[in-house]
Amino acid sequence: MTADALDVVNAMTVDVEDYFQVSAFDRVVSRASWGERESRVVGNTQRLLELFDQSGVRATFFVLGWVADRAPELVRQIAAAGHAIACHGYNHQLLYTLTPKQFREDVREAKRALEQIAGCPVVGYRAPSYSVTSSTLWALDILIEEGYLYDASIFPVHHDRYGIPDAARHRHMMKRPAGALLEIPASTVRLGGVNLPIAGGGYFRLLPYAWTRWGIRHVNRVEREPVIFYLHPWEIDPGQPRLPVGRAARMRHYGGIARTADRLQRLLGDFRFDSIESALNLRLYLAA
Ligand SMILES: [Zn+2]
Repeated sequence: MTADALDVVNAMTVDVEDYFQVSAFDRVVSRASWGERESRVVGNTQRLLELFDQSGVRATFFVLGWVADRAPELVRQIAAAGHAIACHGYNHQLLYTLTPKQFREDVREAKRALEQIAGCPVVGYRAPSYSVTSSTLWALDILIEEGYLYDASIFPVHHDRYGIPDAARHRHMMKRPAGALLEIPASTVRLGGVNLPIAGGGYFRLLPYAWTRWGIRHVNRVEREPVIFYLHPWEIDPGQPRLPVGRAARMRHYGGIARTADRLQRLLGDFRFDSIESALNLRLYLAA
């Protein structure tokens, strides 16, 4: 690794949710059953905390309100270790399945729960499955009205469940009718006029590690921009109960899970990471 890639500090982010709460399982896991299922989010998140601690990395944890209310000690543990607490909504519903009123209640409830538990302001938001699309941009106005300062929910790619393929690829202020919001999109590389995802989730588990490494280096060296990396606690848990889903969902959820903790460890050694708040100098950015 040469110094020119190393001097860019990337952002490490975690969406804190349990394995049964992912959108791909909506059809086989009812919300009513969440409370009765074996929960593994605490142990898995603590394992991530250990990995980050070993590498001296701080991250931004987008915590689901539903999880925070049931595992408040976990939220306090994350904050006490110096990581940033942000919001992943309360009930993990895709934005395009909600009315604006329902969305407002969801993000208000989640913010209230997280702030009460963590004892600090919660100003960042990431939508379930990056579901801020061109049809749900109204959600950004509600986030502004509810006191959020940044959003990290736009994925500038083509995908069946999310994405705004022509959205700006790096952080930028979004001017909305309700005011301004800092948008921090998921990271991509642009090749042949198409944006390709490079930094996290299923792309990190399923594609060769070399793809992620090349992509982050490219963005750091050529574009001089930080990458926003994301993962979920369940992605390092090969022991989670297997749910009866179709082939595509099975592949996306379970593919590569056994090797992901090792990969993450390697990634943490190959690049510099910090929370969104520190890596992107958010205090300065938002004060401007
Ligand atoms: Zn999620």
